Amino acid sequence: MMNKFSIQDLQLKDQQVLMRVDFNVPLTREGAIADDSRIKAALTSIQYVVNQGGSLVLMSHLGRPKGKKEARLSLQPIAKRLEELLEMPVLFAEDCIGPKVEAMAENLQPKEILLLENLRFYEAEKCPEKDPSFAEKLAKLGDVYINEAFGTSHRKHTSTYEVAKQFNGKSATGFLVEKEIAFLGNVFERPKRPFFAIIGGAKISSKLGLIRNLIEKVDGLFIGGGMSYTLLKANGQKVGDSIVEDSEIENAKEISKISSSKAVKLWLPSDIVIAESLSNEAETQIINGKDAIPDGWQGVSVGPKTCADWKEALQNAQTIFWNGPLGAFEYPQFADSTYEMAQFLAQSIATTIVGGGDSVSAIQQLGLLPQFTHVSTGGGASLEFIEFGHLPCVDILTDR
Ligand code: ADP
Ligand code: MG
Repeated sequence: MMNKFSIQDLQLKDQQVLMRVDFNVPLTREGAIADDSRIKAALTSIQYVVNQGGSLVLMSHLGRPKGKKEARLSLQPIAKRLEELLEMPVLFAEDCIGPKVEAMAENLQPKEILLLENLRFYEAEKCPEKDPSFAEKLAKLGDVYINEAFGTSHRKHTSTYEVAKQFNGKSATGFLVEKEIAFLGNVFERPKRPFFAIIGGAKISSKLGLIRNLIEKVDGLFIGGGMSYTLLKANGQKVGDSIVEDSEIENAKEISKISSSKAVKLWLPSDIVIAESLSNEAETQIINGKDAIPDGWQGVSVGPKTCADWKEALQNAQTIFWNGPLGAFEYPQFADSTYEMAQFLAQSIATTIVGGGDSVSAIQQLGLLPQFTHVSTGGGASLEFIEFGHLPCVDILTDR
């Protein structure tokens, strides 16, 4: 599966390593680092370069500055935090390209680290065609290239794709990307069976490709959360004021058809928590999964019977992939089923893989991250990898 060079396949001594990392950390309203997991996740690759005697230029984006400098989205505080975590100095460049940065990069000694300013202060980071010279200017800063930014590897941006293109024979995955691809690739190619997928979240349109692909691979598919109401409506059921994508009704019908033709059991909620509004104070009821949801009410989560049924069906699973919460879990009063499923998966002996920003944050809230076999750091990227089996910014790296 992993037919790409890994960081360990490259000679790094006295080489300058240009590494794309994912330091797009969540910020507090005051602009402080709210969670430094993404910085910590890159430490292994960073320390490896230093220990091998290479010099290191790190580049990342942060937030959505729309191609303009925005003081609030500077990477400077991240350089500080990185320094603390590594217990060694980290130089910071107040730009990511240009003569000053080039001079700093040139003067960098083995075992020294330089972090560049936010790549997205340039429009060309997200839209490479706007300025092809942006890629060349970044590429100048290193002798070898490492992709350690799994979360952005599904997008052909300048730093992840155009720059990598210029390092043929001298590019590789970082440890984190290597691990992601190994785990997700295994699920994609040879899962231990029975293999089940649990898909939730608000919108079915964003996950149709994923669901179609999973039907080809799984032994059973469980669909909960907001997207289940589009499937129920496609089956002719009344769903009241639940979130529904009417434009996806035909696609939803097709999903039911494909799964029955493949004899893949499609599990829908056996019961539904309904509420008069999406709020913690709203009146709630639990209804049977086959009952009409009255007007003025909406489905907000799968119910306790669904959890019990699904847990029983998942008892002998060998592999479980989970993406998307089973209800509007941001509201504590609707979070029970999502939390119950997270707890069940955490103690399951199956290989458990979770991808998706909101599902991962539900698990994090419960402190259960370490109990999953693999928690994918890249939401969109992990879903695209499961869907297509490869990612453009990994494809572009050197073949082994
Ligand atoms: P992930 O980030 O794990 O891929 P999504 O982004 O697809 O998940 O979906 C998460 C969102 O779906 C959450 O904001 C959650 O509130 C919402 N959601 C889940 N179930 C419902 C529901 N029944 N009604 C409204 N929103 C829901
Ligand atoms: Mg999400």
